[in-house]
Amino acid sequence: MDNILHEVTSLNSANLIDPFGRHIDYVRISVTDRCDFRCTYCMDEDVTFLPRKDILSLEEIVNVAQTFIKLGSKRIRITGGEPLVRKNILWALEQISNTPGLEELTLTTNGSQLKKMAKSLYDVGVTRINVSLDTLEPELFERITRRDQFHQVVEGIDEMTQYEFKRNKINSVILKKHNDHEVADLARFALERNMDISFIEEMPLGVITDHDRAEAYISSDEVISILENHFTLTPSELKTSGPSTYFDVKNYQGHVGIISPHSHNFCATCNRIRLTAEGRLLLCLGNEHSMDLKPYLRTPEAQEISLDEAITQSLALKPEKHHFNLNEEPQILRFMSATGG
Ligand code: SAM
Ligand code: SF4
Repeated sequence: MDNILHEVTSLNSANLIDPFGRHIDYVRISVTDRCDFRCTYCMDEDVTFLPRKDILSLEEIVNVAQTFIKLGSKRIRITGGEPLVRKNILWALEQISNTPGLEELTLTTNGSQLKKMAKSLYDVGVTRINVSLDTLEPELFERITRRDQFHQVVEGIDEMTQYEFKRNKINSVILKKHNDHEVADLARFALERNMDISFIEEMPLGVITDHDRAEAYISSDEVISILENHFTLTPSELKTSGPSTYFDVKNYQGHVGIISPHSHNFCATCNRIRLTAEGRLLLCLGNEHSMDLKPYLRTPEAQEISLDEAITQSLALKPEKHHFNLNEEPQILRFMSATGG
């Protein structure tokens, strides 16, 4: 392994390029595994969170983010758990957004804190926000998130649209017989606010007890056919750094997107890596290949290589693709909240 790592480093030291030639210019950083919601597809009610000492400090997170930017990353997404429940998160966001070389600082949130934080997020330089919203029915919202905060989230979304973020998006995980009857209404909710919306296929990350993931599976193609009964969709030129495939929608500025980890594998164009809340650099959401960056942050003097070198070398570990099978026991036991969605 050592030899492989050295070869890759010498070939690609100036760029973040993996063994399959993919440019890794997009980093998703989970700033906490904690959350104020308990979405049924993401975690159970009585989930165990990581001990606080294992979570990276905000200074350590900023250090990793700035190192990635120095190495050529143009886009950073801050996520979690719920990133906006992390104390002093605005300080870290400001440090990262002010780092020369960064083009986009984006955020994924459940929206619970947006009403009070949207302006500050805009002021510290967040450029785009994705808000997760899976239903427009308050009771179903409580059933899915296990929290009674539907109105708070919608008010947060409306507050966010008062500021000139570059483009905002709703993310909806669609589950058969749970919220698939709301696909068109969710799209209309986003489009009428000039926002994009992406419909996500549920991934088998972590063991959950609420529902059988295979039974709840609905493909993105089915979601698109539902939408075609209500809207005129045409494939869009729009490309973002994420895995969504977009459609233009007649009479609307916003777009409809699909994220299809099962039905349309997007690994060939994967430009992303993730930093987990405890500092593990995860090379692929659907595999366990990772490098622990914590030693390079906490005891750099005891390491043979620097943080920059550790990051560059870790790219040799990025697998070619993920394999999800809903009919098997989950192979990936970590929850999306621990990973950084
Ligand atoms: N708490 C924030 C939120 O909900 O937006 C950020 C973290 S959350 C893990 C990021 C995204 O992952 C959300 O859009 C959520 O719906 C999605 N997600 C969580 N678990 C998932 C799963 N098992 N399959 C697909 N998407 C999932
Ligand atoms: Fe929390 Fe986001 Fe997971 Fe829902 S999807 S439980 S809001 S981390």
